[in-house]
Amino acid sequence: MKNIESEIKRFLVERGWDKLRPSDLAKSISIEAAELLEVFQWTSLDIEETKRDAQRIEDIKKELADVFIYAIEMAILLHLDVEKIVMAKLEQVRRKYPAELMRKNAKEESGSGADPKYWKIKNSARRSKKP
Ligand SMILES: [Mg+2]
Repeated sequence: MKNIESEIKRFLVERGWDKLRPSDLAKSISIEAAELLEVFQWTSLDIEETKRDAQRIEDIKKELADVFIYAIEMAILLHLDVEKIVMAKLEQVRRKYPAELMRKNAKEESGSGADPKYWKIKNSARRSKKP
């Protein structure tokens, strides 16, 4: 991870892009995420179908890299430790959606865990955020 961060930091400094506004990076992350979504426009491919589509995989790799790069850029510019913030978020989500509960109820077809217990937890969290 540190190698990627160093490489991105060097890339930014070389181009004078190391003083970007966080809001511009947030917009860029969202734009690149939309480009990733566009790769799936008008499809409903499952994992295996997606993996067999070589051109689609190439497109996914490019857009996913764009998202990663902008996200890591934001972390670098705000002096955030990527590993720490990812691990902290994973721990938060682990507590919110216990693996045993989610796995037991995950739908076999998608493995998304999008069952009634998941939505009960999700909706409760959403309601608690409302003013
Ligand atoms: Mg792109």
